[in-house]
This record gives sequence, structure tokens and C-alpha cells, in this order.
Amino acid sequence: MINKPAPFYIIHAKKILITGNLIIFIFFVFLLASSFVIVRAYRKLRKTNKALAEARKKAENLSLHDTLTGLLNRRGLEQMINYEINRKRRFDNSVSFLMVDIDYFKSVNDTFGHVTGDLVLKQVAETLTNGRRSTDLVSRWGGEEFLILLTNTSESQAMQIAEKLRIACSQIVLNDSHNITVSIGVAEVMKNETFESWFKRVDMALYTAKNSGRNKIVAASSVNVEDIQDCYVKKH
Ligand code: GH3
Ligand code: MG
Ligand code: MG
Repeated sequence: MINKPAPFYIIHAKKILITGNLIIFIFFVFLLASSFVIVRAYRKLRKTNKALAEARKKAENLSLHDTLTGLLNRRGLEQMINYEINRKRRFDNSVSFLMVDIDYFKSVNDTFGHVTGDLVLKQVAETLTNGRRSTDLVSRWGGEEFLILLTNTSESQAMQIAEKLRIACSQIVLNDSHNITVSIGVAEVMKNETFESWFKRVDMALYTAKNSGRNKIVAASSVNVEDIQDCYVKKH
């Protein structure tokens, strides 16, 4: 019996089937390979995003902190001050400032050198941080001045905290011989008072503490603005 050759259309259909399967196979291999590439790219992107977010957080953190002492810097505290002023307006809670300034700090630098001066700044920062309550915010406002924000604290309570900090700072000893002292101004914010006015009152209290011999604390409520206005304006 002679084998009849398969009809043309069957041979053709088989070829189409094989080619089709091959195309589908290649397509799936391609799909699988692209999925791997996409997953790898996605993981890489996620890692880069995470690193970027961390770098941004670090940069933001750096921009709000003082590099020498690690305390909040002026910019860092200002954000919290505005928040507390708004809370005062709304809830009438007490908030106070302590402005701490190292006495005769220039002579510390002149006598012991700038490096020792830096060390003193660090020690004072540490003493103020250790002596604060967990809700208080300590900042290095500039040079040898530290501004402390005491939330939910009246002026009389702030005076007690200031006294504790003044004593703690006076126990810092330099080269076994030289004691550090600080002067502190204290002011509670008044309802609807601006930051500028509050800051000026605490600065005037500090100015009065300096003028009355240093190593002192003075409350803004005890300062007669007219008495010191002329000298204070001349100094600023
Ligand atoms: P007073 O008792 O009136 O506050 O006198 P003072 O000498 O502390 O104040 P004055 O403003 O005359 O001098 C401040 C000094 O602080 C001068 C400046 O060189 C020094 N100072 C500011 N920033 C730094 C710092 O980062 N490191 C060091 N070592 N010194 C600094
Ligand atoms: Mg000083
Ligand atoms: Mg000063």
C-alpha cells in the first residue's frame, strides 16, 4: 500500500502550530526575563528611595542642630516657639523662656584657648540638657547663649528650674581651678504676645542679671523696663 502524502493544508497547519508554539515560548521567556529585570529595577529604586529619604532626614536634622553641642540651633527651636505661642493663644497654658549666657566667656577663650572654650560650651550644653525635664527644649541660640523653652511652666516655676541650672553650671570646673558661672533671664509669655516681645523681655532680664553682678537669675516681671531701656538699647 502506497502511503499517501499528507495533504498540503495539514503540513501547513503543523508548521503554523510549531511556529506558534515557538513564538508563545519565546514570548513567555521574554516575559519572565522582563519580570526579573523589572523586579530588580523596582528593588533598586526602593533602596535608592530609602537612602534618599534617610539622607534628607539627616540633612534636615543637621540643619536644625548645632554641630558643636548637638543641641537644637536657633532654627530648630524657632519652629517649636511658634507652635507654643499658638498653643498659648488657644489654650492659655503657661510657657517660659530661660536665656542662659556664660559669664566672662571671652576670658575663658583668652586664658585657656579656643579649644578649651569649645569644651566648656559642650559641658554647659550637657549640664543644661541633663538638668532639664523631658518636655523642655534646650537650644544653642548663638555663641555662648542658650535659649530654653519650658512648656507648661509659669515664671515662678521657671525661676526654680533656672536656679537649679545655675547651680549645676557653677560646678563645672576648668583645669581644676576655674569655675564657670552663668547668668539667666526668665520670662513667661503673655497671652497674644509676639515672639519678638517675649524674646526682648527675656533678653532684658538677662541683661539685668549681667548688670547686677553675673551668676544671677532675674525674672522679666521684676525688670523695670524704663530703668534699663537706655543702656539696653545702646548695647543692642
Ligand atoms: P558676659 O559675661 O558679659 O557675657 O561676657 P562674655 O565674655 O561672656 O561675652 P562676650 O560677648 O564679650 O564674649 C563672648 C565670647 O564667646 C566671644 C567669642 O569669641 C566666644 N565664642 C562665641 N562662639 C564661640 C565658639 O563656638 N567657641 C568658642 N570657643 N568661643 C566662642
Ligand atoms: Mg557671656
Ligand atoms: Mg553673650
